[in-house]
Amino acid sequence: MTRPMSASPNSRLTRLPTRAGVTPTSIRLIRDIYAEAKAVDRPVMSIELFPPKTEKGNATLFDRTLPALQALGPDFYSVTYGAGGSTRDKTLELADAIQRRHQTTTMAHLTCISTTLADIGRYLDDARSRGIRNILALRGDPPQAPEEHRSSGTGFEYSYQLVEFIRERSGFSIGTAGFPESHIACTEGRHVDWQRLKAKIDHGADFVLTQLFFDNDDYFAFRDYLVGELGVDVPLTPGVLPILSREQITRFAALCGATLPSSLLSTLESFGDDTAAVAHFGAEFASRQCEALLAGGAPGIHLYSLNRPEGATAIFEHLGLTDRS
Ligand SMILES: Cc1cc2nc3c(=O)[nH]c(=O)nc-3n(C[C@H](O)[C@H](O)[C@H](O)COP(=O)(O)OP(=O)(O)OC[C@H]3O[C@@H](n4cnc5c(N)ncnc54)[C@H](O)[C@@H]3O)c2cc1C
Repeated sequence: MTRPMSASPNSRLTRLPTRAGVTPTSIRLIRDIYAEAKAVDRPVMSIELFPPKTEKGNATLFDRTLPALQALGPDFYSVTYGAGGSTRDKTLELADAIQRRHQTTTMAHLTCISTTLADIGRYLDDARSRGIRNILALRGDPPQAPEEHRSSGTGFEYSYQLVEFIRERSGFSIGTAGFPESHIACTEGRHVDWQRLKAKIDHGADFVLTQLFFDNDDYFAFRDYLVGELGVDVPLTPGVLPILSREQITRFAALCGATLPSSLLSTLESFGDDTAAVAHFGAEFASRQCEALLAGGAPGIHLYSLNRPEGATAIFEHLGLTDRS
């Protein structure tokens, strides 16, 4: 189903006209992007964005951030989905607008708790009608307040069920989330969490994007177990976040269960309130992290940009990837 245009005439998210039902050839299935890059030994570089809450945020994203990111030639963008569907329309509108304005592939995130099967079906139909060909299938986090938990026409408890549901509808390339340090709620140990990731792949996921982490050994142990012990052969792409502020990364790490090594934390503390120095160091740290990940055989990098271009630009420059045309 195609939703009516709700944005104002000046909105950056207003749909651009195209021929109905025609997807430009530059809009790809992400599994094909990975397969072609692997054949020529090239890393797949992707960038995560979130839908801004305000018109001013949209203006900054479309007038400044996206032109700067486009100059780097990313392979695709992914667009986050607010818990419980709070950004549902905005996720698809942003993914759609990027594809139409920049002819670059996008992937829309989707979570399966606090929703209904009918809503998931409508979302997929809407994505398809907009020419969005890739979905990151997630469970999502249960809401803090139980009364917000609109349960549930789906009967889905875990993301592998969403992966299976999307696969049965066919036509999409499906990504899923992986956790090099294990998912924060998994009490049975990291190998059990990684076996559950294998189940998501067995149900139809084409590739994995990981949660952020700061010690590359966590990623390599995760990759080696999945590939060596479980026989996984889909791309396992590390997610990297260029740190912007000490307070913010401490909060994020606590929320998602990522370990902030004490040496990293004390370096961040040594900058005090100098936010520019923190961001500069964060971009350098992430650049070195990405370089080592690619040297160790990672199929690409998924960058958590927080809608800022500076970290991604520093990383692409450090990796010598700025001229990828
Ligand atoms: C790259 C990336 C992007 C993300 N984007 C978003 C976003 O846009 N919006 C958002 O709300 N959240 C997002 N998240 C966060 C994600 O929704 C949460 O981490 C969530 O808690 C877990 O999602 P999942 O899809 O990994 O869940 P699942 O795969 O369902 O796993 C959740 C937990 O259940 C356990 N589990 C899985 N299968 C079973 C089983 N069969 N039996 C028992 N236990 C099981 C796992 O071990 C884990 O502890 C993202 C995470 C990543 C890594």
